[in-house]
Amino acid sequence: MICLYCHHVINEEQTLMSLFKKDEPLCSACRSALMFKYPGDRCGRCHQLVTKAVDVCRDCRALDDLYPEINKMYTVTDYNDEMKLLLHRYKFVGDYALSEVIALLTDFNFKQYDYVMPIPVSQARLKERTYNQTSAILDALGVKYTDMLGTKKKKRQSELTRRERLNSINPFYLLENVRDLNLSGKRLLIADDIYTTGITMHQAANVTKVLNFQNIDVLTFSKAHHI
Ligand SMILES: [Zn+2]
Ligand SMILES: [Zn+2]
Repeated sequence: MICLYCHHVINEEQTLMSLFKKDEPLCSACRSALMFKYPGDRCGRCHQLVTKAVDVCRDCRALDDLYPEINKMYTVTDYNDEMKLLLHRYKFVGDYALSEVIALLTDFNFKQYDYVMPIPVSQARLKERTYNQTSAILDALGVKYTDMLGTKKKKRQSELTRRERLNSINPFYLLENVRDLNLSGKRLLIADDIYTTGITMHQAANVTKVLNFQNIDVLTFSKAHHI
């Protein structure tokens, strides 16, 4: 078997446990590099590293004051060195197959939600990249999702300063196919590739408020760490 990420032959000893696991085209070296977690105390809500373990960090409190819609936040991996490389290749070099690698790392129960919604990318970005990086991972996972939002965002988030991001007007709007729905009692999961400041997620959740979801959780495939 060839590792989907490093393309080397997987030549690992079979253990009793591996006989019971499904075939996984990722070698253990790649898996551990991609799943590497920075040691240290974390915010219990967004999982970012903090100087002292807290239930909710300062960033989360500020975001929650502005946009209180999100219940729980989940993340698959830290934004470690290997993930940084992977996401760069995936998003800016157009290596679509990497969606499968991220899917292999993702162990998450999507079935607990009635709706899964990817964060949209702007038309301009979509034209350039040809795929929505979050939807592609959901496709690789076999998760059914519903596009509910459009975005007017022009600049890349990475081109904005933190202040600009916090003060930016909400770029998201509801698409026509969901605008008149009442989804009270339903559970929504919003998915995105990376959680940086958290503003994108919170603004997206805020726009879905009018649909009356009973619960909104968010999942990011990678989480930036800052301290
Ligand atoms: Zn490998
Ligand atoms: Zn936090």
